[in-house]
Amino acid sequence: MVLSAGAANSARLLLASANDHTRTVWPTAQTRSDANYVFHNSRAFLAVSKERNDTRFQKTLGLNDYYFGDADFEFPMGNLQMVGKSSAPMYRGEKPIETKLAPTIALRDVAGHAVDFWLSVEDLPDPDNRVTLDGDGNIVLSYTPNNQEPMEQLYHRVKKHLSHLGMHPHHLIPRDVYMKNDIPVAGCAHQAGTVRFGNDPATSVLDTDCKTHELDNLYVVDTSFFPSIGAVNPALTAIANALRVGDHLLERLR
Ligand SMILES: Cc1cc2nc3c(=O)[nH]c(=O)nc-3n(C[C@H](O)[C@H](O)[C@H](O)COP(=O)(O)OP(=O)(O)OC[C@H]3O[C@@H](n4cnc5c(N)ncnc54)[C@H](O)[C@@H]3O)c2cc1C
Repeated sequence: MVLSAGAANSARLLLASANDHTRTVWPTAQTRSDANYVFHNSRAFLAVSKERNDTRFQKTLGLNDYYFGDADFEFPMGNLQMVGKSSAPMYRGEKPIETKLAPTIALRDVAGHAVDFWLSVEDLPDPDNRVTLDGDGNIVLSYTPNNQEPMEQLYHRVKKHLSHLGMHPHHLIPRDVYMKNDIPVAGCAHQAGTVRFGNDPATSVLDTDCKTHELDNLYVVDTSFFPSIGAVNPALTAIANALRVGDHLLERLR
């Protein structure tokens, strides 16, 4: 059987399935280091360019130049990427109070000149950040943000570069305007880590083939297997791993 219900729901199904027979699949009772819910510290912001930005498919550029730190900050920072092009209705939806008094035409004008960015920074595996179930079997997510400093460091570096474009006044308005928005845990798009893999059954649920240590016929191949989230988007890693496990299963069933 291959379980792939997403990081929160796979954890939920495993927790809800625990009984005398399967209890050992899920060693959380013994150790608290096997199920770290991670999801990325993320920040979206936009710069307002003097030129119009009529790009439709903006999310094609990313860079990892600061991924492992730089001369002034020795710790990993993370990833910068463009994000889908923003529009006036999105500003209203995301910031209803702040945009309440702004006429739509002004928001449209901002959107027409907006260049939208997304920063991703690793949130570190923390045994206290985890999925548990309440008495009715509903998911309870405990999460306390960590590793916030690299986000500030990365943000200031990116901001510095954008301002630097001021040397080319046709690229940015004279006084740069930045809107920024940290993405809270409710924006859990990149969730991972709840059923992590590893060599040691005491600290992982899955072996490195993503088979549960304790059962011979149960595999988990969604992003739950990640032992950590890194700072880049997870989907390609999840897909590559699922293909890898698929090959392993074909070999096993041969
Ligand atoms: C808005 C948004 C934007 C994103 N953008 C990017 C991006 O640009 N790049 C990137 O790499 N990643 C991106 N991601 C993240 C990416 O989509 C996820 O990391 C990836 O889809 C996770 O794959 P998964 O297999 O772990 O879970 P999912 O893709 O969530 O698949 C889990 C599946 O299990 C099903 N399921 C859940 N519970 C049950 C159940 N009890 N019974 C049966 N089925 C069940 C769900 O319906 C779902 O189909 C984005 C996510 C979101 C939400």
